[in-house]
Amino acid sequence: MTKQAAALNETQTLDASLRARAQRVVPGGMWGHLNAARLPEGYPQFFASAEGCRVRDVDGHEYIDFMCSWGPVLLGHRHPEVQAAAEAQAAQGDCFNGPGEVMVELAEDFVAMVPHADWAMFQKNGGDATTACVTIARAGTGRRKVLVAKGSYHGALPWCSPSVAGVTSEDRAHLLHYEYNDVASLQAAVDEAGKDLAAILVTGLRHDIARDLELPTREFATAARAACDATDAALILDEVRTGLRLDVKGSWETLGVRPDLAAWSKAIANGYALAAVTGNDKFREAATKVFVTGSFWCGTVAMAAARATLRIARETDVPGHIRTMGLRLREGLASLANQNGIAIRQSGPPQMPLMLFDADPDVKKGRAFCSAALRHGAFFHPVHNMFLSAAHRPADIDAALEAASHGFKAVRAI
Ligand code: PMP
Repeated sequence: MTKQAAALNETQTLDASLRARAQRVVPGGMWGHLNAARLPEGYPQFFASAEGCRVRDVDGHEYIDFMCSWGPVLLGHRHPEVQAAAEAQAAQGDCFNGPGEVMVELAEDFVAMVPHADWAMFQKNGGDATTACVTIARAGTGRRKVLVAKGSYHGALPWCSPSVAGVTSEDRAHLLHYEYNDVASLQAAVDEAGKDLAAILVTGLRHDIARDLELPTREFATAARAACDATDAALILDEVRTGLRLDVKGSWETLGVRPDLAAWSKAIANGYALAAVTGNDKFREAATKVFVTGSFWCGTVAMAAARATLRIARETDVPGHIRTMGLRLREGLASLANQNGIAIRQSGPPQMPLMLFDADPDVKKGRAFCSAALRHGAFFHPVHNMFLSAAHRPADIDAALEAASHGFKAVRAI
């Protein structure tokens, strides 16, 4: 516990005092999905440190982490080899007048690792990458319409923000919507776009907030690829959330479907700020023509961290390990729910699990579960898919299940 935290009395935690201060100098105290109003009761808003699969809040409480910074932490917080690579690069400087050698090396790594990729370019946030993919697709096809799955998240830019505040209808004028995994609705949207179809945008799986996760069906993935081939449009795979957790080659590789363009971020640099677009030769010229850049897009430290992350993910079968840990968690939660006579639904790949309670329209049960589990040291999320990391070991999963047992008791008491 920090001295500052210890100095505060029990009713005034450091977290509470930071929230009060933030209310005065940060609009709403916090932006977007991290606004305190969205947190289950008792959840900290502010964090102080993290190591492996554990995070510590500013008041010194430690939790087994099942959010992994909302995805970026793939190998565990402060992974020693990633830290060493980042620190060695930082010792040379981070932000120069142009890129370092590491940019070319990292692009080579992506091209070697990802079968659809003939080239790569780098940004900072997932939204930079999804926006660049859409821009490249429009530049390459000379068309405007982009098909987006209803409820799918691609970032907080005006064209794709889940909120309409400050967004004009013109920002979204050329988006058409389809239902994920519904071939007929996809085809209807393709027909509606007609000769103006620039791209079909898909996520690695359906991971909309507060609904069961859905893996893509082979039929849907194949239909999306076929529609793009038939119309010469771009198939864009938004791998921002799924990238490296399911399959290092790309999350649709097992379906035998390869995109033309893919957006990556979150896990690729194990917590360092980096995004990437990978593309095939068909879109190389378009990617050369568009003007995309950012003051920090050449930062060498994140790229060095990414090289280490990609290497470890490839060499140690990270998706396989986190799948095993995710299955252990899933089986444990199922058996606890059963023992307590509580009906739950678990969905998604084990690496990115979601647990929802039956008959819980206002998420009262989900929030009670999370609050109680948090008090016993496990950081879960009631409605967003969670994330596992390579740092989770069987003993961590078992300790988290012990915390979850208190969560189920709390739900029983409702
Ligand atoms: N696409 C997907 C599928 C995402 O999950 C996210 C972030 N949650 C984004 C894009 C946007 O990424 P960022 O917040 O880094 O801009």
